Amino acid sequence: MNIHEYQAKELFDQYGVPSPKGKVASSPEEASAAAEEFAGSKLVIKAQVHAGGRGKGHFKNGFQGGVHLIESPAQAAEYAGKMLNETLVTVQTGEAGRLVRKVMVAEAVDIEHEYYLAILMDRATSRPVIVASTEGGMSIEDVAHDTPEKIMRQFVHPLLGLQGYEIRKIAAGLGLSGDIAKQFAKLLKNLYSLFIKCDCSMLEINPLVTTPDGRVLALDAKFGFDDNALFRHPDIVAMRDTEEEDPREVAASEFDLNYIGLDGSIACLVNGAGLAMATMDIIKHYGGEPANFLDVGGGASKEQVTAAFKIILGDPNVKGILINIFGGIMDCNVIAEGVVAAAKETGLPLPLVVRLEGNNVDAGKATLAASGLNIEAATTMADGAEKIVAAVSA
Ligand code: ADP
Ligand code: MG
Repeated sequence: MNIHEYQAKELFDQYGVPSPKGKVASSPEEASAAAEEFAGSKLVIKAQVHAGGRGKGHFKNGFQGGVHLIESPAQAAEYAGKMLNETLVTVQTGEAGRLVRKVMVAEAVDIEHEYYLAILMDRATSRPVIVASTEGGMSIEDVAHDTPEKIMRQFVHPLLGLQGYEIRKIAAGLGLSGDIAKQFAKLLKNLYSLFIKCDCSMLEINPLVTTPDGRVLALDAKFGFDDNALFRHPDIVAMRDTEEEDPREVAASEFDLNYIGLDGSIACLVNGAGLAMATMDIIKHYGGEPANFLDVGGGASKEQVTAAFKIILGDPNVKGILINIFGGIMDCNVIAEGVVAAAKETGLPLPLVVRLEGNNVDAGKATLAASGLNIEAATTMADGAEKIVAAVSA
C-alpha cells in the first residue's frame, strides 16, 4: 500500500522527521485558503499522486510540471486550477498518466544541497538497508546507473537496530558535519523508528535538503507499507486512496485474491503462486501475453472464484481466458462451480480454455460439461496455453 505526500507529512510530524509545513487542497478555493495560512513565506504547490517524477512531468492539457513555486494565494488558486482534475504524466506513471485529485500547498524552502535518503527491506540479507547519496534531486535512477559509487548502503541489524556509529558513517559519507550532522542524526534515527514501527517496506526521501539557514528537511516522501502487516495499523489503512490503485486490484483485494494486473490479452486463473507464474510463462512461450497474475489460493471459496472471474471479464483488454488448476487442497469442483456461476451472471463472451487436474477432477469436469457453456478442455498446461493463444489470435 502507498500513501500521498501530504499523508506522509503527517507521519513525519508524528515521528519527528522535519519537513516544511503543508496543507492539502481539492479545489482552487481550498488551495488559496491554504496559501493564506502560510502568508509571508514563499510557497510551492505540488500535485498529489502515487508516483514520483512530478517535478519533471507534464499534464495532458499541455501544462508543464507537477511542482511549482508560487507567490500568492491568487497564484495558488490559478495553479490548482491547472492541475486539479487534469492528468499528470511522469516517468513513473506510464503514458496513461494519473488524474490529479488533490494538490498540496507547502512552504517553500531555500535549498543549499539536495541529498537522497531511503530505507528499504533488502531481501538478499533479510535486513533493512539505508541508501543515501549526495546526488539527490530528481533523477536518482540516472545516478544509480551512471555513477553507482555515489550511492551508499548501510545494512542494519534488525534486532540491534540502527546504531550511532552507523548513523555517523552515513553522515560522514554525505559530507555532513557540525550541527547539520547532529540534525541529520536525529532525523535518521526518527525515520528508522518510523520505518520499523509502521511496518514500511520502503521509505524514500528525495530530496532531503540542507538550507542556507542551517536546517535539514525532508522535501518529498514516498512510502510503501507491507500489506501483510496492515492489520496492525488501522490508522495507516485509513490513509489508503483506492482511487490511486488499479481498480482490478482493488476489487481483488476485497476478496483476498492475489491479483496483479498486466497489459496482455490472455487472462489466467490459477491456484498457487508458483503455478500462476508458470502459467504466465507458458502463455508467453506460445506467443501470447498474460493479462494478469491471479492466484486464487488453495482454499478459495466459490464466491472468491466467482469474484475472480468477474474481475477478469471486467478487463477490456482480455480476449481469452485460461484456467489452470492443479487441485491439491483445492477442490476442482469448487473452481468449476465458481466459473459456471460467474459465467451465468455475466455471460461468457470470450474463449475459455480449462485445464483441471487433481482433487475431485471428475466432478469438476462434469459441472463444466453440464453447464452448457462453450468451454474448450485441455489435457496439459502446454495444451491449454496453445489452445488459448490460438483462440485469441483467431
Ligand atoms: P518529484 O520527486 O515527484 O518530482 P519533489 O517533491 O521531489 O517531487 O519535488 C521536485 C523538486 O521540487 C525537488 O527536487 C525540489 O527541488 C523542489 N521542491 C519540492 N518541494 C519543495 C519545497 N517545499 N520548497 C522548495 N523546493 C521544493
Ligand atoms: Mg522527489
